[in-house]
Amino acid sequence: MATASRQGQAHGDASNDDPLDLLIVGAGFSGMYMLIKARGMGLRALAIDAASSVGGTWYHNRYPGARFDIQSLEYSYSFDEALQQQWRWTERYASQPELLRYANHVADRFALRNDIRLDTRLTEATWDEASACWQAAAQTGERWSARYLVMASGPLSTPNTPAFDGLETFAGPTFHTADWPHQPVDFSGQRVGVIGGSSGVQVIPLIARQARELTVFQRTVPAHNGPLDPAYEARIKSDYRGFRERVIAACVWASEASCRRIWRRRLR
Ligand SMILES: Cc1cc2nc3c(=O)[nH]c(=O)nc-3n(C[C@H](O)[C@H](O)[C@H](O)COP(=O)(O)OP(=O)(O)OC[C@H]3O[C@@H](n4cnc5c(N)ncnc54)[C@H](O)[C@@H]3O)c2cc1C
Repeated sequence: MATASRQGQAHGDASNDDPLDLLIVGAGFSGMYMLIKARGMGLRALAIDAASSVGGTWYHNRYPGARFDIQSLEYSYSFDEALQQQWRWTERYASQPELLRYANHVADRFALRNDIRLDTRLTEATWDEASACWQAAAQTGERWSARYLVMASGPLSTPNTPAFDGLETFAGPTFHTADWPHQPVDFSGQRVGVIGGSSGVQVIPLIARQARELTVFQRTVPAHNGPLDPAYEARIKSDYRGFRERVIAACVWASEASCRRIWRRRLR
């Protein structure tokens, strides 16, 4: 097995001919955690991301109002006690800029950037029997050989634009929340239609402040956000591990219960 990552060494530069143990596709929360774990196991790993920043979802979804719909204290990384104790969320449901700061903080804190290639999109991956490695290529022209290929490419990282009739002839500008311009969009005096679920419910109040007229096609009920109560935060942090375990147990219970319900219905 190849030697583990050394501080200050950019693996891509260290000759792409040396096989990696792990090529990780994506540098969102999953990809960064995978990189940390791989290093901890002494594996030589590289993460690549098509985006220009780490953070994945929280880099791409930069529409006005973008934020968690799960509480910040629950969503954050749990693998490092010092990190979870020291990072201070300002809101119960953090906003996208704060989430992106957190992702960048994690990348810096754990010195991940040496082993992350940004603006690098995986375009090809083929299993090569002879070398027992994946042969992977990016749009940059770089190629890697890797024993394992880990797709941390995100469950929701490809924007989906529904094929609405007439969309191609619509004369006005259209935006997708998952691919929002990096510059602010001015909706002043405009007649705007918003189609969508939980992203829609976040973006609507902000566009409504500017728009002349706003028509919403919406079905999702928003979560109850507010400032993060310091007493609640202290209570959670006094037993963060126990809190995480209770949340996971509740999720497992909920998913088992819903599986049971689904199967009962199917077996009827
Ligand atoms: C608007 C929105 C709100 C959400 N809110 C919540 C929430 O409140 N709670 C919750 O639990 N989850 C939420 N999610 C789900 C969220 O996607 C996950 O929580 C989590 O961020 C996924 O992390 P990830 O690293 O697995 O994937 P992502 O964050 O999607 O990262 C995947 C990365 O892979 C990169 N990539 C994809 N294909 C390639 C390729 N071919 N080559 C190179 N790079 C590639 C992408 O550029 C991206 O940066 C939300 C999702 C969205 C879109």
